[in-house]
Amino acid sequence: MAHWFSIVNISSAIFDRSAPDLDSCPDESLPEFAFIGRSNVGKSSLLNMLAGKGILARVSTTPGFTKLINFFTMSKTWRLVDLPGYGFAAGAKQESARFNKAVARYLKHRPNLCCVFALLDSGLVPQEIDLEFVEWLTRNSVPFVLVFTKTDRGTPEEAEANIAAFTARIAGWFEQLPEIFRCSATTAQGRSELLGVIGATLDAIPKETKPTPATAAPLPLEEVEPPFSMKVRAGIQREENPRVKKKLKGARPW
Ligand code: GDP
Repeated sequence: MAHWFSIVNISSAIFDRSAPDLDSCPDESLPEFAFIGRSNVGKSSLLNMLAGKGILARVSTTPGFTKLINFFTMSKTWRLVDLPGYGFAAGAKQESARFNKAVARYLKHRPNLCCVFALLDSGLVPQEIDLEFVEWLTRNSVPFVLVFTKTDRGTPEEAEANIAAFTARIAGWFEQLPEIFRCSATTAQGRSELLGVIGATLDAIPKETKPTPATAAPLPLEEVEPPFSMKVRAGIQREENPRVKKKLKGARPW
């Protein structure tokens, strides 16, 4: 697998903040990798598996924080962004709409967002809400990969059938399918591959525009450049994603 040589090591994971909207997000100095899926998809377990037990899961499952955009600074060089799940039933309608809007704004407008890990349950047949969400990501040129969770749960054949059914549903949107990963929080399947995605993306950021570690003295304001030409996920530009076949029309507001 191409990512083997650039697996990112996680030496520290520090909770930065919980943001209710785009304006409350931290500065754009670090590349960000966001994780999202329906509630119960296995996101907390996956984040634990990726980053080690502890702070991530504690913050992300604390009541009141599950609907906020949670930022963690990883190894002082990148941010892990834990996005609220879509399709959650809890909370007043108005509130969930507000948070959906915040997530949509984050996904569409965050310039230092490098890649979204869209989580899907490998134990389920394609779910309409997941398909809609992936369509939305595609239509809005958000760089993403698909992560099928809980592969240890059923039989491998069931998981593969569900993955094949999902990819068959979305295949028509792309010249080339997005990357697909199989993960299990129980067996740690997929851990190196996901960390490889992050490592490879960080490696692909041109050196001269690489963000300074968070500990460095802040630059005087006039010297602050837009951090880097983000939106990079293995060379994919946000504006023109060569994998996407056609512009999907009829935007559905999230
Ligand atoms: P979240 O709501 O997306 O954060 O999902 P959780 O991480 O809380 O997981 C939801 C349920 O699925 C819990 O009962 C987990 O124990 C279970 N689960 C999550 N990941 C896995 C996995 O990789 N394998 C198995 N067998 N169960 C999992």
